[in-house]
Amino acid sequence: MKSATANRRMTLLVMRDAQHSVKQIHLSKPLMMAVPAAAVLSLSGLVLALQAHSSQVISQLEQKVNIENTRNLQLQSSVNSREQSIERLQNEIIKLSSQAKDMQQKMEHVDELEQQLQQFIDKHTTSMSTDVSENKASSLSWDASEHVGGEYIAVHENEMLDLAQETKDDFQEMQELLKTMESQVPHTLKKAQETQKQIAGNPTLWPTASKVLTSSFGYRTDPFTGKAAFHAGIDIAGENGGPVFAAGAGQVVTSEESGARGRYIIIEHPGGLQTWYMHLSKIQVNVGDSVDKGEQIGQLGSTGRSTGPHLHFQVVKQNKPVNPLPYIQAANSEYN
Ligand SMILES: [Zn+2]
Repeated sequence: MKSATANRRMTLLVMRDAQHSVKQIHLSKPLMMAVPAAAVLSLSGLVLALQAHSSQVISQLEQKVNIENTRNLQLQSSVNSREQSIERLQNEIIKLSSQAKDMQQKMEHVDELEQQLQQFIDKHTTSMSTDVSENKASSLSWDASEHVGGEYIAVHENEMLDLAQETKDDFQEMQELLKTMESQVPHTLKKAQETQKQIAGNPTLWPTASKVLTSSFGYRTDPFTGKAAFHAGIDIAGENGGPVFAAGAGQVVTSEESGARGRYIIIEHPGGLQTWYMHLSKIQVNVGDSVDKGEQIGQLGSTGRSTGPHLHFQVVKQNKPVNPLPYIQAANSEYN
């Protein structure tokens, strides 16, 4: 029994070096087997634990990398979208700037037209005393490069800022020009309307359909007495009932019947002239009526001191009859 017990024990010799004595450690056999096994087990456990830990760390790191990547992508896309926004804004500025130039050009054109209108008024207005030349908008100038093409030259940010500022200035200039025009155009328009009224008021239209003159202005032998007499107008022969037109726009100041004149009308024109229409068979206007140039005012006839159907047409300037022919003949081609 003793030997069996001794057999189960094992001796472990521990030799450190030559100076130290050898140590003997007696261990039972199962214990001797258990120690390395335990060591192996604990080592493998450690390895497993380390593996588990490292795989956890790796997955955490991977997650972090993924998050970083996502962030980078988001950042990149936000940078991209910002760049796109800036590009869009720059294009907008360029577009605005070109619109400003275009608008300026158009406004300058309108300004020129207004000046032409002013010149037209000056030419046709009898009184030149009123000052119409003040407040003239100064004409603008710029470099108009209209051709498209050429190489691509990148624009610096500062240049874009300059362009934006320039465009702002352009709009401000236009605003000022518009303000000037706003105050000036109604004035010019009013003058133009007055001029137009005056032009329309000039008795320049031939007053009948017929153009057969039977008696001219001036001294003649009177058809009734056979004696020399002054004829204050012209006589135009025509059909009884034929239309008689206003020679110019104006206001009817007389519309009545008298012995020698028969049924007659007097129209006063804006320029101060009067036109008289006599021997009418019918009057179609009343005193106070405004008539347009060419408007039918009555019908040709032979009322009053008349030998047959005709219109006695007379132009009166400052209460004196003047020869009507220069008025209705000179402008005939222009207004008929
Ligand atoms: Zn006459």
